[in-house]
Amino acid sequence: MQIYLPTNVYSETDCVMNHRKELAALGSRALLVTGKHSSRINGALEDVQKALQEERTSYVVFDEIEENPSIETVIKARTLGVQEQVDFVVGIGGGSPMDAAKAIALMIANPTEIQELLYQKRELPALPLAEIPTTAGTGSEVTPYAILTIHARKTKQSISHKIYPSLALIDSRYLKTASLNTLLDTAVDALAHLIESYLNANANVYNRMYSEKGLSLFAEIKDDLTQCRRQGKEPVLSLSDTVFGSLMQIAAIAGMAIAHTGTSLPHGLSYPVTYEMHVPHGKAVGIFLPGFLACYQNKEEVEMLLKRMGFATVEDFTEYLQELLGKLEIPDHLWDEDVKSMLENQEKLKNYPFPIDQQALYAFRR
Ligand code: NAP
Ligand code: FE
Repeated sequence: MQIYLPTNVYSETDCVMNHRKELAALGSRALLVTGKHSSRINGALEDVQKALQEERTSYVVFDEIEENPSIETVIKARTLGVQEQVDFVVGIGGGSPMDAAKAIALMIANPTEIQELLYQKRELPALPLAEIPTTAGTGSEVTPYAILTIHARKTKQSISHKIYPSLALIDSRYLKTASLNTLLDTAVDALAHLIESYLNANANVYNRMYSEKGLSLFAEIKDDLTQCRRQGKEPVLSLSDTVFGSLMQIAAIAGMAIAHTGTSLPHGLSYPVTYEMHVPHGKAVGIFLPGFLACYQNKEEVEMLLKRMGFATVEDFTEYLQELLGKLEIPDHLWDEDVKSMLENQEKLKNYPFPIDQQALYAFRR
């Protein structure tokens, strides 16, 4: 039995400033990888710039990461990083910039390699990496995964390389600018990680410990989330600092769970839905969670998880998720394609502990 979680994680207010020496110790010139807007609004980018300035460490900013980052954007950032001779990378934002930062750290460390390297099974070095999350969903700050959009295949896929951040600096203040939909969608992503890690062929007592704790924390705040949806206001107007803190904790704990096991069928099914319908990641995963639980063969484990989350039945859980996420109609042709590609996705199928066929997967659409 093993669990390997090598990231140094700090979670507190003013985290970036407090740990600027550890951040600066990663190298002498940083590439700050972020999205187009949000990290300027929530203060995360400014905090990192100030922290590095205080430590007299130079940096250059790449702020073009789009949602569901593409291989093309990663390559563009590599060109800048190589030109600027950076020797470490800092990802700042939601899962998109954090995942992109991992792939960029790999590509800069291998500057003469072609982009196909991302999906080749080879042992290669990556530059040291720090991650600063501003959503509470993916847990990418502690996982080794980087999911990129492959336009040629009209889907998304995790790169073949496992790249753990050296440092994760978590400050829930950054989450306060999140929109209602982003906050709820990403909370459901974290919930999916906890569930898919627990009900997983790779599960052991360690990752289940993270899932159990994460689900208990989720039970404590789950009604705050529905309340927030009903009020329809920006989260900062209806959630307390404690709830923002819990959401960040849950996401990191859920990341620690999937760092060990990987995700399962709801994540595998979500990627074509995100690509073709532009549905945010958390929502695209969340719509498959009720079907996943209803079809899962070990009913005792499902009951235990539902109880831990504070639900009596799968139906209660389904209603809850529908209120948070809204409904989503997947067109028949996309659903047929999705099921077909899921049955070819050995990486995800091997994480599901039972045999699964086309008929069983069709029951995941509710
Ligand atoms: P995201 O794509 O990183 O961000 C979604 C949107 O939220 C963007 O418009 C972003 O704006 C904005 N945003 C981010 N933080 C904000 C804040 N604090 N306030 C206001 N707006 C904010 O969303 P995500 O759900 O966190 O990440 C999804 C990606 O992560 C997907 O590609 C998914 O496949 C991947 N993922 C990775 C893992 C893993 O283990 N590595 C696990 C699950 C999912 P800007 O663009 O302006 O920044
Ligand atoms: Fe996810």
